[in-house]
Amino acid sequence: MKNISVIGAGTMGNGIAHVFAQNGFQVQLIDISEKALERGLATIEKNLDRQLAKEKITEETKKHTLTNIETVTDLSKGVAEADLVVEAATENEKIKLDLFKQIDQAAPNHAILASNTSSISITKIAAATHRAEKVIGMHFMNPVPIMQLIEVIRGYSTDDETTKAIMSLSKNLGKIPVEVNDYPGFVANRILMPMINEAIITLHEGVAGVQEIDTVMKLGMAHPMGPLQLADFIGLDVCLSIMNVLYEGLGNPKYAPCPLLVNMVTAGVHGAKTGEGFYQYTKGSKELIVSNRFTK
Ligand code: NAD
Repeated sequence: MKNISVIGAGTMGNGIAHVFAQNGFQVQLIDISEKALERGLATIEKNLDRQLAKEKITEETKKHTLTNIETVTDLSKGVAEADLVVEAATENEKIKLDLFKQIDQAAPNHAILASNTSSISITKIAAATHRAEKVIGMHFMNPVPIMQLIEVIRGYSTDDETTKAIMSLSKNLGKIPVEVNDYPGFVANRILMPMINEAIITLHEGVAGVQEIDTVMKLGMAHPMGPLQLADFIGLDVCLSIMNVLYEGLGNPKYAPCPLLVNMVTAGVHGAKTGEGFYQYTKGSKELIVSNRFTK
């Protein structure tokens, strides 16, 4: 594999493009928004500078990485030469199904089509194409240049050849791939999200406050961040949408999203990106302040 097309230049897409380009692949970074492409490239440059300052890469590597990335808004053009397409567009089923239909028509027949989705069924995405055996989940973790794991998700029809190719490619990127099957939430979110939801239920029932819950999990379980702070960083809207996928897909009431989470999302309180979740976030401040709503 030589040519990689990455669709979506947001949080995940720019990280994925960065990692491929740094490892010598030719990357086409595609987004419908010219602004998102500019922001994506600026983030890649900033992250490369950070790696440079820590002496993790050389000036030469920074230069090569940037020259290996081309940006494009025309999807058909962007995937025309791809050996692998990694889709990291907005987490919305309709957007992804439409995208995979278009990619299937425009990408070469040999190309593998991967999705970085956190929760949408790979089997469903594959069914929108005429090459279901070549469709697979490649679930990178945030921030992509730093996190080692790639959850590699086999859809119902994904063949061995495709899985082997993606497992080996992931290792070539310096990552550690883990193969899992396509069921709601895969493995990462099947386990992480119910834990976060349970932390919200614990708060909702008045068992303990925000800081107490996060401190118990940080100091008691050696988690680098408490579950409520993590929920704020992931985005409460994203947490709710993944809980709904688990609830609907597995049909078990234990996955019902906490009513407090539902209310917060409905009220537009989506975590760090909106300035408030379980904590309050002010630009430039690293101090963790519990939201007024949760202090007595
Ligand atoms: P984001 O909102 O930061 O970026 C999405 C980008 O997709 C935007 O720039 C948008 O303009 C672009 N886009 C939307 N529709 C498009 C289209 N039709 N064609 C081309 N580009 C299009 O989102 P994100 O957080 O980077 O998430 C992307 C994917 O990665 C989602 O599937 C998400 O579930 C998954 N994911 C996210 C995280 C995370 O921590 N953010 C972690 C793992 C996986």
